[in-house]
Amino acid sequence: MTNIADRLALARAKIKQASNDSSHVRLLAVSKTKPATDVLDAYRAGQREFGENYVQEGVEKVAMLADYQDVIWHFIGPLQSNKTRLVATHFDWVQSVDREKIATRLAEQRSEGTSPLQICIQVNIDNESQKAGVLPEDVPALAAHINALPTLTLRGLMAIPSNTQDAAQQKASFDAMHDLFQRLKAQYKQVDTLSMGMSGDLDTAIQAGSTMVRLGTAIFGQREKKKQ
Ligand SMILES: *Cc1c(COP(=O)(O)O)cnc(C)c1O
Repeated sequence: MTNIADRLALARAKIKQASNDSSHVRLLAVSKTKPATDVLDAYRAGQREFGENYVQEGVEKVAMLADYQDVIWHFIGPLQSNKTRLVATHFDWVQSVDREKIATRLAEQRSEGTSPLQICIQVNIDNESQKAGVLPEDVPALAAHINALPTLTLRGLMAIPSNTQDAAQQKASFDAMHDLFQRLKAQYKQVDTLSMGMSGDLDTAIQAGSTMVRLGTAIFGQREKKKQ
C-alpha cells in the first residue's frame, strides 16, 4: 500500500506534468473526514494547504494542529449563516462563498487585528439545481460586494463541475470557468486563484488554466460516507 507521502509525491508529479512544469498550480489537500494524524503525515511530507468541508470537524482539526503555524486552512464546504463566525475565526480562506449575506457576515466576524480572510466565489458553472454556487452572470455583483469589504480579500473563483465522464463537456465547463476568471482578473488585480480540478479530473482542469487543484482521495485514500 502506498502511504500519504507517496501519494503526495505522485500527485505533485502529475500536476507538474499536466502543467508542462511551467505554471504554478497549487495543491490543496482535502482532508475532510480524515483524522488530524493524516494531516500531520501530509504536513511532514511538505504539504501546507488543507481543505475542510464541515465546520465542526474542520475547527477541531485547526485546533489540534494549532502548533503548526504555517498551515493554511481553506474552508470549501457549504456554509450556513449560523456557522460563519467559526469559519471567520479559524480559517484562512473560504472558497465556497455564493451569496452576499454570507460574505457580509464573514467580513463582520473576521477580527480586524488579523489578516483579511481570503475569498473565492463558488460558481455553479453547469447550472445544476442541487448545487451550491452563483450562476456565471451573478459573479460580477457578488465580486463587487466582496471587494468593498475591508476584512475580506477577493482572490478568485472555485467550481465543482457536473459529475460527468463526457470529456468534451468537462472541458467546456472548465473553459467557461477560465473565461470568467480572466474577466475577473482584468477587473481586480489581486485575483490570482482559479480553484478547479479534483482527483478524477485534474489533468483537464490544469490544461484549462486551473491555478489550484483540490485533491482528497488521491492524497488520503477513499473516504467513508459521512452523515451530515
Ligand atoms: C471532497 C472535495 C474535494 C476532493 O474530492 P476528491 O474527489 O476526493 O479529490 C474537492 N473539492 C471539494 C469542494 C470537495 O468537497
